[in-house]
Amino acid sequence: MSILHASSKIAGIAWNVTRLINRSLPEGQLPTPVWSQTPLKKKRERASPPLGARVTQSVCPKCLLEARDGVLRGTQSADSLTESLAKIDAEIVEEAGRVLLRKSCDRHGPFEDTLATDSRFFWKMESLYPGCDFERAEVAAHGIHSVRYGRGSYVLVDLTTRCNMKCNPCFMDANQLGHVYELSLEEIKSLLDQAASVEPKREFNILFSGGEPTLSPHFLPAVSYAQSIGLNRLHVATNGIRFAESPAFAEAARAAGLHGVFLQIDGMTEEKNAHRGVSNYLDVKLKAIDNISAAGMRVTLQVTVINTVNNDAVGSIVQFAAENSEKVFGVLFQPIMFAGRAVSNQSRPSAFLQKISGAETPRCWSRNWVFHLPCRPDEFASGWPARSQ
Ligand code: SF4
Ligand SMILES: [Zn+2]
Repeated sequence: MSILHASSKIAGIAWNVTRLINRSLPEGQLPTPVWSQTPLKKKRERASPPLGARVTQSVCPKCLLEARDGVLRGTQSADSLTESLAKIDAEIVEEAGRVLLRKSCDRHGPFEDTLATDSRFFWKMESLYPGCDFERAEVAAHGIHSVRYGRGSYVLVDLTTRCNMKCNPCFMDANQLGHVYELSLEEIKSLLDQAASVEPKREFNILFSGGEPTLSPHFLPAVSYAQSIGLNRLHVATNGIRFAESPAFAEAARAAGLHGVFLQIDGMTEEKNAHRGVSNYLDVKLKAIDNISAAGMRVTLQVTVINTVNNDAVGSIVQFAAENSEKVFGVLFQPIMFAGRAVSNQSRPSAFLQKISGAETPRCWSRNWVFHLPCRPDEFASGWPARSQ
């Protein structure tokens, strides 16, 4: 019996034992974990946001762009982006096996987006949502509701708008903004202090991002500080260049307390990475993966899927992850974000979840291993591949 098979059996038995204990305990008598001040709740005691076909809230994409332009021109305040100005009601409906989001703006007319091309898979994802517990009223306005409900989250700390690349697309418009915005160490510490004050901190991750966060002179001190105040799941989202250039940099990041690296990658050939404008970019990625791994960290491959660019490269990335699981922790697929240097004809790859579960992917991958992040049951999915042998 392989180690993987044995671990899988042990995990299955442990899970069933836990469920038996859970069933036998009366409500209100589950244990209080070290990260919480109150006991765990049974699933039926937890609240849940509305799921399934429903009326929800969305934004008018045109009103939002107008608001953003107004902020950039200085004719309206940044608060207007989070006020109700662009918010409109939307309907989530199932039609012909797809899940659609329909909305209409009084000024700009109707919009329709495809949330999923496989409705059964989408509803299954929603059904896995664990529910809300540990409500914290003081973080109610945060937006990502998992922080409010103690379900864990990624706190994004954008260290800088600088970058050592000029990709197209780039959601941050890094390197071409005409100005640099970079947090001082005091500002970073203040953000981290606020993050550390949130309780409970189950699955609580800090993700340093940018631009290219490793270019910030405060990157390593920020990681060290975060660890010193008890934030110990620390990650960086990076293009990997600094990690590829210098094994010593990877070692310093690990020594500072970095836990893992989200590495941008678009495919397993130079051609699939070519839109980033670097001729040997795949080589850089592979070197970065080696250096990060040698320093004792693991990599999550972070793939921005763009129709017509790399939506046909998804299978080979999963294959690579499966074959290199001692270095690669997982794969995170994300659709393109229409911000910065993304243009609307680079449409969202609505079918990419089918690709990662279809004929293009290796047999060791199953879409049963794809699940949403705890912050939004209807918007995020991530998956961890495992070797079958
Ligand atoms: S996409 Fe990432 S790596 Fe590319 S320019 Fe933007 S911030 Fe830099
Ligand atoms: Zn509008």
